[in-house]
Amino acid sequence: MGDHIDSPRIAGSTRRDALGLAAGLLTGGALALGGAPPAAAAEPDDDCLADYDADYELALALSEAELPEDSAELERYGPPGRCAMPLRRRFRITTRYGVPGNWIAGYHTGIDLAVPRGTPVYAVGGGRVVLARWSGAYGKAVTVRMPDGHYAVYAHLSRISVRRGARLRTGAYLGSSGATGRATGPHLHLEIRAHRGYGSDVNPAQYLARRGARLR
Ligand SMILES: [Zn+2]
Repeated sequence: MGDHIDSPRIAGSTRRDALGLAAGLLTGGALALGGAPPAAAAEPDDDCLADYDADYELALALSEAELPEDSAELERYGPPGRCAMPLRRRFRITTRYGVPGNWIAGYHTGIDLAVPRGTPVYAVGGGRVVLARWSGAYGKAVTVRMPDGHYAVYAHLSRISVRRGARLRTGAYLGSSGATGRATGPHLHLEIRAHRGYGSDVNPAQYLARRGARLR
């Protein structure tokens, strides 16, 4: 899944406007949206709505500008080219990567691993924590820039246990799973991006499998 985003910003504001309109109509008691179902029922049959969020993307861009690449320190991060499992207990894959649905991208940009709230989450790859804070639709999220230039986003966390700027080794504990942000049930939304921006996502299961960690 590569170049499928024409203009997330425009799409984002359009959808945001549409949701705002729907919310306004609902709070006003007017359920008739030209025959459209209420907003909640219009969402995909999924517990994850981690999606394009302008505030998150802006915060990520600004934060990263202050955290230069430190390729001289790559050895800090663990064995190059090897990934670790993000969870060390049993999980259920509830929504796979690329499933079509009501996301701005038109499909699910990560993979959802259902685990109870509070389950420890580990870095699939070492790298620099470029953002560790509330991230809008992603809820409490940790975003890590890995030495190969990819970004890993760990979303909907109940607890964040690392600070922005920290250097994590592969397999480092970074927080606990939850259902913060746009999620209706506890799960880890793991998203791997080839670049910083929304829409550059790659298949997390494939990314990890090629580096020795199999999600199943
Ligand atoms: Zn998800």
